[in-house]
Order: sequence, then C-alpha cells, then structure tokens
Amino acid sequence: MTEQSKALVLFSGGQDSATCLAWALERFAWVETIGFSYGQRHAVELDCRARFAAGVRSRFAEWASRLQGDHVVDLSVIKALGETALTGDVEIAMGRNGLPTTFVPGRNILFFTAAAAVAYRRGIKHLVGGMCETDYSGYPDCRDDTLKAVQVALNLGFDTRFVIETPLMWLDKAQTWAMAEALGGTALVELVVEETHSCYRGDRSKRHDWGYGCGDCPACDLRAKGWARYQAAPR
Ligand code: ZN
Repeated sequence: MTEQSKALVLFSGGQDSATCLAWALERFAWVETIGFSYGQRHAVELDCRARFAAGVRSRFAEWASRLQGDHVVDLSVIKALGETALTGDVEIAMGRNGLPTTFVPGRNILFFTAAAAVAYRRGIKHLVGGMCETDYSGYPDCRDDTLKAVQVALNLGFDTRFVIETPLMWLDKAQTWAMAEALGGTALVELVVEETHSCYRGDRSKRHDWGYGCGDCPACDLRAKGWARYQAAPR
C-alpha cells in the first residue's frame, strides 16, 4: 500500500464529513478516519460516527474492505481557549464580528494540524475534509484559500507532500445529497439521513424526512433546505 493510495478523513459524524468518507472510500484503497472531541455541547455527532461506520461495513462490501482504523483525538484545548456556542452555554446568534457564535476560532486549522500529525505517522498522503465555501456560515477557516494555505504550511512544517482534499468545497447542500446518491445510491442517502447529525442543539428527538434535529437552528435549516432542493431536482 503506497502513501498515494491512503487517505485520512476528518469524520465528525455530520452529513458533510460522512459524504466525504464515502467519496474517499470510492477513490482510495485504504481509508482511516479521525474525529475530535473538544467539549462540544453535544456528543451526539461523535456517537453517530460509530453507527455510520457500522452501516458502511454492513451495506457496502467493497468500501468495508477499505475502511480501516479510526482515531479519536482529544482537543479539549479548544474549549479551554475560548467559549463558543458549540462548546459553552452561549446562545446561537450572530456575533458582533459578523460571525455566528457557533464559530470556534482556529478549529479547522487545529483539526488539520492534528490530522496531519496522525497521517504523518501512518504514512498517509491525503487529508479529506467536508469544508465548504458555498453554503457555509461565513466561517473563515472553511474557505478554500485558508485550507490551501494550511496545506502549504503543513508541507513546509512536516517536510512532506500532504494533499488536502475538500470534495464539497464548491457544492451546495442539495448537491451534497446528490453526491451521496451518486456514490452509494439510495442506500447511502438513507444511511446519511438516519445515522448522521448536523443539529447544533444535539436534538435527536425529532425525525424529519432529512434526518434528526430541532428543525430551527441554522444547521437544521441548511440541511432541511438542501434536502428539499435535492428532492425537487429532476433526476
Ligand atoms: Zn437543530
């Protein structure tokens, strides 16, 4: 197995990273996953990770043979560095800096740095993340330029040639659902609906046709609107 054929997917348990995991399983012979615990208000997403991976193993034989180890890294330093709506008891709203209070400063930069450290040890070249500039919430660390700069910094700092792959960067949420269908048919779409989680409030008590969530936080809103457009699109 060469470095070139190995990928490490930043897998949170949300819709976007789950779709990226399927994307990587279609392309790379060896795929590992990494997740981060950082004092999220809700561990719901992290619980979804194991169930989604189990679903991949039971329903997609070819992908199952490629899906290798999982890493969960404690990045609780993020919580120590500053309280946000995702890590503390802060209301989900628009902040004075024009960013939602769900913005966790430096999060994706830390995530990729930690992922690169794992990938370096594991002989993995490709780092895959579900960041997206199209439907994003204005998070500056989801931007294509940010991640390209992170790739350059990592390659200089590690003296290696990582490639950061962001297959969703220019897709909207409807196109992300369509990508899941193209990759794994309705079986994958069902698995994403059932076993991934996006809701900022961590609510899994309400089941909608697009999955579980409170139905009115910004993340639920994006997911629901994307689903509606995906369902309305001609096939
Ligand atoms: Zn919600």
